[in-house]
Amino acid sequence: MDLYEYQGKQYMARFGVPVSPGEVADTADEAVAAAERLGYPVAVKAQVQVGGRGKAGGIKLARDADEVALHARAILGLDIKGHVVRRLWLERAADIAKEYYASFTLDRSAKLHLCMVSTKGGVEIEQVAEEDPDAITRRHVDPLDGFTEADGVELAARSGIGEGEREAVGSILASLYRCYVEGDADLVEVNPLVVTTAGTVLALDAKVTLDDAASFRHPEWSEWSNLEELDHRERLARSKGLQYVGLDGDVGIIANGAGLAMSTCDVVEQVGGKPANFLDIGGGASADVMASALEVISTDEKVRSIFVNIFGGITRGEEVANGIVQALGRVELKAPIVVRLDGTNAVEGRAILKSHESAQLVSLPTMIEAARVATELAGGAPR
Ligand code: GDP
Ligand code: MG
Repeated sequence: MDLYEYQGKQYMARFGVPVSPGEVADTADEAVAAAERLGYPVAVKAQVQVGGRGKAGGIKLARDADEVALHARAILGLDIKGHVVRRLWLERAADIAKEYYASFTLDRSAKLHLCMVSTKGGVEIEQVAEEDPDAITRRHVDPLDGFTEADGVELAARSGIGEGEREAVGSILASLYRCYVEGDADLVEVNPLVVTTAGTVLALDAKVTLDDAASFRHPEWSEWSNLEELDHRERLARSKGLQYVGLDGDVGIIANGAGLAMSTCDVVEQVGGKPANFLDIGGGASADVMASALEVISTDEKVRSIFVNIFGGITRGEEVANGIVQALGRVELKAPIVVRLDGTNAVEGRAILKSHESAQLVSLPTMIEAARVATELAGGAPR
């Protein structure tokens, strides 16, 4: 789950990262009221989950109530790279002397955490990486060693941060690391990390991606997940505990295992069809799970056929087939289902499906044939 800037700042603050005090506002009136409480000058900041808000006119400084109202009206409703602004964050504006960059993320190829620091903050880090890669200082972090303030100071020094600010930056990096590890994030990024003219170091922007697999440890996250920008299919899938990603096509896809689900999307594309979604029901394929998956797919108006691609491993073919048949009895489907069942006890499973075959349920032995028929049923011309 990606957090908005204001949520990310609140999260980082819990772990000791200094941020400016601020408030959210959903209307110009609320923005003015918030600004009056915070005191001027204030920064009026669009809350959308996309970078480059500054350049797009989504961040403005205001010296008084009239300016806040003016900027708030201009920013609310603004379309920033396809994201419409519905909420603002107002905070005491900082007097910026320097802008740095700091982040922690996972370096999968190194199998270690990675801390990156740069004195070239304020611009997109991808741009810095391209134009001046040496301006980014990296340090891999073994989770068993952790990351201390001293490590932070060392990294700050190596990246060319002045002596006067190293202690503060080092301490912020250590707090940021705690936010990343104890806070179960996949990414914590501060860009810019600023030094004010008064010499204070604080996070002016915050990007946090939480690890959804850890949500069971964080009941407090639900407050944020309710605000997440999901479409209705994704919301329903989430509530049923399914791994679902909505796509634009008309062939609904259900598979067990993320790899198989991706391959299924690929094969449908290969034969000229368009996947309506990615849906991984996980290892098992019980009637309950199958019914939930079919229910989610059925809420997608665009779906014209459903391709169920199951490879039986520990779950045996006949259990899968019975699950599908039972689920069909529970969910009202507008689109026909094409099942490809393989793996453990596939023969037994296919026999069960065969005995229930109808215009609504077709069973085919191979993935490519099933993909072709599903594409055809969706109205496409399969290759
Ligand atoms: P982004 O463009 O989406 O990354 O949004 P940021 O929150 O990083 O803000 C972009 C830029 O706006 C920053 O790099 C600053 O230069 C500027 N900015 C944001 N907040 C303030 C503030 O409180 N005071 C000043 N002077 N500039 C700010
Ligand atoms: Mg930024």
